[in-house]
Amino acid sequence: MIQRTNNSEVKKLNRNRVFRYINSKNRTSMPDIAAALDMSGPTVLQIVKELREAHVICEAGEFESTGGRKAKALAAVRDARYAVGIEITRNHIGMVLTDMTETVLKHNRMRKAFTYEDEYFKQLGAALEEFLGEDKAVRDKIAGVGISVPSIVDSTENHITYSRALDLYDIDGEVFSRHIPYPCVLINDANAAAATECIADRQLESMIYLSLSNTVGGAVVFRQENGQEEPGSPLGSVFENMYIGKHWHSGEFGHMIIHPGGKTCYCGKKGCVDAYCSALCLAEYADGYLERFFDRMEDGDLELVKVWEDYLDDLAITVDNLRMCFDCDIVLGGYVGSLIGPYIKELQKKVAEKNIFEGGGAYVRACRYQKAASALGAAVYYIENFINSI
Ligand SMILES: [Zn+2]
Repeated sequence: MIQRTNNSEVKKLNRNRVFRYINSKNRTSMPDIAAALDMSGPTVLQIVKELREAHVICEAGEFESTGGRKAKALAAVRDARYAVGIEITRNHIGMVLTDMTETVLKHNRMRKAFTYEDEYFKQLGAALEEFLGEDKAVRDKIAGVGISVPSIVDSTENHITYSRALDLYDIDGEVFSRHIPYPCVLINDANAAAATECIADRQLESMIYLSLSNTVGGAVVFRQENGQEEPGSPLGSVFENMYIGKHWHSGEFGHMIIHPGGKTCYCGKKGCVDAYCSALCLAEYADGYLERFFDRMEDGDLELVKVWEDYLDDLAITVDNLRMCFDCDIVLGGYVGSLIGPYIKELQKKVAEKNIFEGGGAYVRACRYQKAASALGAAVYYIENFINSI
């Protein structure tokens, strides 16, 4: 009995690996799959048959012959499932539609101040309806709607324990999905954005995502560093690889103290990262607009040049602390991370000076997705779930 269970688990795992491999390629062939995943021809043949019967892969022409019989090309059915990601912030609602490619098919962002009232959630449902439009083929295949919120979220209970940005405490997540006719889940915004960075890589590596928005947060992505590469399952389920912590508080890097007795943080402590590295620390010098801060600094405003220099010093301390704790790449996201690209070398130089082990600073980089990162990550949650079920 136990043996049988194990066999079926191995079969499912193999089927999953084959599907992930096919989905990661434009087109591939059975010999390619067998070679890449180190599987026998008959095993691949059987799995391909099952995946075709499940309508998640299809034939996509033939490859040019290299002497023998032409190999049939296989591809994933891109529209086997769709998913939507909604990104809720204090003043905006962003929406993203994705499919099996886990890329942005459609994106919309509207200005809408968050209020904890049924009217807001009704309008959220209406905005989703409008976003999806009339296309029944899409609607019928929606696996779910992931909702990214700037909050500490207990995802198993679908419960917001705390959100400073939305001013919410102990809220049942069900209110967010009350007017949405699809399966929904609430996801912490930094975790969602970190998931997007992982899929941008197509390889899951351990990573710290440091979100530098109006508050500072982050996510911890762990990959088993056992040296065993698993081609065909580059991501596994990215959400399962996040370290959440005992009370869903992991990654709250904004409240690490970098200047004891320093500026007062909104949490009440003195000297927190948040008080020095949030996007607001820069935007407050430019009428509340972060882009304007960078524009004016580029125009030679010496006060802002100094502010930026100090900001980078504090960010370098934070990044170095994270590197000492986790020994992995650090990705800068959020509002500042989206604009830091031109200055990343300067930051790398500062962190390199603190790096007692390797001496370099290349381990810190800017995020790859500047727009809609959290919305896409929230949508990816449902695509990954679907892929896991294959
Ligand atoms: Zn704090």
